[in-house]
Amino acid sequence: MNKNSSNIMALAPSTSNKRETVCIFGTGDFGRALGHKMIQSGYPVVFGSRSTQTSSLIPKGAEVLSHAEAAQKAAIIIIAIQRQHYNFLTPLAEILHGKVLVDVSNNLKINQYPESNAEYLAQLVPGAKVVKAFNTVSAWALQSGTLDASRQVFVCGDDTEAKQMVMDIVRALGLTPVDQGSLLAAQEIENYPLQLFPMWKFPILLSLGLTTFFFFYCLIRSVIYPYVYENEDFSFFLAISIPNRICPILALILLALVYLPGVLAAIIQLYRGTKYRRFPDWLDKWMLCRKQLGLVALAFASLHVLYTLVIPIRSFVRWRISSRIISQALNNKTEPLNTTNAWLSDSYLALGILGFFLFVLLGITSLPSVSNNVNWREFRFVQSKLGYLTLILCTAHTLVYGGNRFLSPSSYRWYLPNAYMLSLIVPCIVLVVKFVLIFPCLDKPLTRIRQGWERNPQYSE
Ligand code: NAP
Repeated sequence: MNKNSSNIMALAPSTSNKRETVCIFGTGDFGRALGHKMIQSGYPVVFGSRSTQTSSLIPKGAEVLSHAEAAQKAAIIIIAIQRQHYNFLTPLAEILHGKVLVDVSNNLKINQYPESNAEYLAQLVPGAKVVKAFNTVSAWALQSGTLDASRQVFVCGDDTEAKQMVMDIVRALGLTPVDQGSLLAAQEIENYPLQLFPMWKFPILLSLGLTTFFFFYCLIRSVIYPYVYENEDFSFFLAISIPNRICPILALILLALVYLPGVLAAIIQLYRGTKYRRFPDWLDKWMLCRKQLGLVALAFASLHVLYTLVIPIRSFVRWRISSRIISQALNNKTEPLNTTNAWLSDSYLALGILGFFLFVLLGITSLPSVSNNVNWREFRFVQSKLGYLTLILCTAHTLVYGGNRFLSPSSYRWYLPNAYMLSLIVPCIVLVVKFVLIFPCLDKPLTRIRQGWERNPQYSE
């Protein structure tokens, strides 16, 4: 060994690979999975259990002792046991005094108990330093190594040193600790794994409601009305025609609903003359799920594109084209090309293609992997400026689709206008209000308010 290498050895800390023993109470699914991962990461693990007999399920290299014996061997004890069994810890209070107790537990319902499980544990063992961690990681993910989706571990606790010790373990396991503050945050951390797509609820329920409404609306206009008045059976419209009407309508309305809360917020700020007062709860919630609304809108727009692609091969469409040709041949009369209609049809298609292209671009930039690589100004530019351009193009696409039959009385059935006309209401309102807000007499005060200026500072909350 040369001189240099011995110097390197001397510089290396002698304890670099030595990890402190960790105790885990409970040899259930989670305790074993966490124990297995810890042993892999170089931690000596000792289990505290009601039964000290080792089984083949216990990770190799781990000891199984009684709770009292195991607790004495480590400064950190992970409580991998359900909350309802925590009272067995009370007689151990003396041994657990000064130890770091890690609460990993979850509940079956949101806010199931008045206090969080971690706070309850702190009450049961007042001398211990309780830290909440690991509850958002599943035993299966720990065991199988498929932690990509849940690499973040939320950690909270009142003792900074204890929290740091737990965060060091989290890091050593290849996970990312996220400090959530004091033990008061435990309730929120415990509720987190119980939430079911919280940001998607409103967009999905809204699209289900609108889909149902427009389905029956189109059914009445396109299937029931011709059947009643002309005895024509257009029930096959249910397969492609009606879905292909509903999808663009939903895409347009939902896209407009992405921008409507921003416009409402601007009006509220202008009215109040400050940005320092909270928006109403419903508006806050609406703003938080704009990305999800936009993605659902994109899904409907993509379906519309797919449905449109199959139009030329539909039997009904082929029959209509051939019967028109035959009727021209029988009458020996050729219809001249209607340039206005050709213009309308081409413009309608071009606007749709451009609108859809920008729609996809918006969807791509909302992906975390893309949005993380653009700065705030670039993100705002894409989501706001390109977003409004997309809304303008898609609204124009629908307006041109209506073309010259837009206000024609013959397009009304049972006084019901075409469904696409209803879809234009929200986007037109959003675009008109946005256009008004661009006027300098409104835009200037709004910009100042957003920079922190207040009309009546004494009234802000
Ligand atoms: P589990 O398989 O039912 O194991 C719980 C363990 O608690 C049992 O194996 C037992 O260990 C011990 N225990 C049961 N009754 C007891 C009692 N009366 N007194 C003392 N100890 C008792 O449950 P788990 O899935 O491992 O979950 C354990 C904790 O981790 C729970 O709080 C859960 O919310 C949390 N968690 C679980 C997961 C997961 O994916 N499973 C994910 C995150 C958090 P001994 O027989 O060794 O005493």
